[in-house]
Amino acid sequence: MTCHNCNTLCKKCGKNRKGTQRFQCRQCRKTFSESNNQLGGMYTPLDKAAQVLNLLLEGCSINSTARLSNIHHTTILSLLSVAGEKCEKLMVNRVRNVPVSDVQCDEIWGYVGKKEQNKWMDEVHRKDLGDAYTFVAIERHSKLVLAFHLGRRDQASTTAFVGKLRNATADRRFQITTDGFQAYPTAIDYALIDRCDYAQLVKVYAAARDGEARYSPADVVGAVPTPVMGNPDKNRICTSHVERQNLTMRMQLRRLTRLTNAFSKKWANLKAALALYFAWYNFCRIHKSLRMTPAMAAGIADHIWSIPELLGAA
Ligand SMILES: [Zn+2]
Repeated sequence: MTCHNCNTLCKKCGKNRKGTQRFQCRQCRKTFSESNNQLGGMYTPLDKAAQVLNLLLEGCSINSTARLSNIHHTTILSLLSVAGEKCEKLMVNRVRNVPVSDVQCDEIWGYVGKKEQNKWMDEVHRKDLGDAYTFVAIERHSKLVLAFHLGRRDQASTTAFVGKLRNATADRRFQITTDGFQAYPTAIDYALIDRCDYAQLVKVYAAARDGEARYSPADVVGAVPTPVMGNPDKNRICTSHVERQNLTMRMQLRRLTRLTNAFSKKWANLKAALALYFAWYNFCRIHKSLRMTPAMAAGIADHIWSIPELLGAA
């Protein structure tokens, strides 16, 4: 512990009423509490913070977490944004140059504040309100989430997402499968043409039925594998694994559950919740079919991480 003013080493000086170590500078006589580095200077004890984040990751809303943990909802949102920022850095720093063989990409719909069609006239141009798509890329065998991006369902977001995917993967030939969204070929041609064989799996939907269609997506009646670039192997054109991961995401994050009145009110909080979720999914959560974490399967971690470790590593 060094003094903020004089940069000299401080000596221990008792404890405050919460039991946190205090320090005093021998030069200017100022006293300080030990700051919580893992939480960016927040005074919430680390085990309590880990409990709160665990509740958020098990599908609790902000308000139910506040009731269960006896922590004010504003504190919970601050914790979420601190953890989200750290986890985003962690994903960029640790998931990089990973050798992969099969990559699957998909987008998950969600919204911030209100759905796109309910915007008022003066809100039409606001980018932080309305539909919010999460782009996800997953490795088929290790189940590692290589990259994610929160944005609109447009070319700019797709290009940013594929750029992140390029940084995450090693320079080795692999196969990539996406859905039929027309922004992917341009983005992949731009960023990944030197290292991948690319195919789209275009879904064919049945005609919407009256009444029922409003509560569930239309039935898929067929999927057409369509090679786009290079020489993709027909038998490996598949997006099932990334779609299963989307279900896990909707189960774990309260703000993405469908047909409820739970939703994100702020773009930044949704982004933080996603970053926290993906870091937790990669490093902390035991995948049932792998019997270890995806990061261990991919060889970028050697044990199951705890949430304090996750916060400390970034
Ligand atoms: Zn001092």
